[in-house]
Amino acid sequence: MDERRDVIVVGGGAAGLSAALMLARARRTVTVIDGGAPRNAPADGVHGLLGHEGMDPRELLVRGRSEVTSYGGQVRDGVATQVAGAADGFTVTLSDGAELSARRLLIATGLVDELPEVPGLRERWGRSVLHCPYCHGWEVRDQRIGVLASGPMSVHQALLFRQWSQHVLFFVGDVAVEPEDTLKLDAVGIEVVTGGVTEVGDGHPVGVQLDDGRVVDMDAVVVAPRMVARADLFAGIGIEPSPHPMGSFIESDPTGRTQVPGVWVAGNAADLSAQVGAAAADGARAAAHINADLVMADAEKAVTQIRAAS
Ligand SMILES: Cc1cc2nc3c(=O)[nH]c(=O)nc-3n(C[C@H](O)[C@H](O)[C@H](O)COP(=O)(O)OP(=O)(O)OC[C@H]3O[C@@H](n4cnc5c(N)ncnc54)[C@H](O)[C@@H]3O)c2cc1C
Repeated sequence: MDERRDVIVVGGGAAGLSAALMLARARRTVTVIDGGAPRNAPADGVHGLLGHEGMDPRELLVRGRSEVTSYGGQVRDGVATQVAGAADGFTVTLSDGAELSARRLLIATGLVDELPEVPGLRERWGRSVLHCPYCHGWEVRDQRIGVLASGPMSVHQALLFRQWSQHVLFFVGDVAVEPEDTLKLDAVGIEVVTGGVTEVGDGHPVGVQLDDGRVVDMDAVVVAPRMVARADLFAGIGIEPSPHPMGSFIESDPTGRTQVPGVWVAGNAADLSAQVGAAAADGARAAAHINADLVMADAEKAVTQIRAAS
């Protein structure tokens, strides 16, 4: 076991690195443990991020790591496999067997996008299979967009993408659509295609295959994943994810503080809708509150020591 640091950040995406940057600049000893699988890894660029529009997602993280280490923060490649302990004495074990300890813990592990079980979706995810109009809408503007219904949010998603293109089809499958929603789709010119989708495969350029044998060519396919916070690792210290209509998330107060003393959460693990800018802001805010918490703990300890001495 190495020396205890102030903070361990599990997850080195936008949220975790932003937090580590703030903590390192606050002269805290901080280590980020990162498995190197950020959610937007398949995407060509980060869009909608002021000052970095279109930047390669990997480049953003390379820069973030270098900013963290330039202030003395550590970034360690690896996967955290076990977390134990409590405030002032957390222990994080890595897959290579190393153990790190810290006074505070920040969860910045992001989420897992669970796609519907339709062959072909996963391989095309983030390229021709999309979910977020603010991330990719501009890139597919005016193109043929096929929205695969996967749940209650799918009509909303189709209506959103209609803002970017008038060529939107809604593959309804077996999802029940309210009559009022059918009216809305119809009113804005979104055609509802009936029949089950059996595969998303090669076409011109993407083919949506239906169970009656038809293949409908699209430029892009849109689907709403279930978004599940990466939280299993923290069950042993009392972190339980809460259900959300779109998946699950780790609850916290507005500063990122969870109900477990000494543990904060930031980014997609806490907020399923956070894009890169919001995730980074979340991390920075949590870091400031972690630092304040440590400052207060140290001041109280100093008072106790003075009282004991007198
Ligand atoms: C296809 C796609 C395209 C997107 N495009 C955009 C876009 O254009 N603009 C935009 O603003 N947003 C975009 N997003 C959203 C963006 O990906 C998220 O907002 C952002 O990644 C959230 O940052 P995060 O730090 O919370 O999580 P992540 O970036 O997912 O980072 C979490 C990190 O934690 C690590 N980790 C997890 N568990 C462990 C563990 N046990 N041990 C060690 N490390 C661990 C992971 O490896 C990962 O590196 C897109 C999302 C997708 C799916």
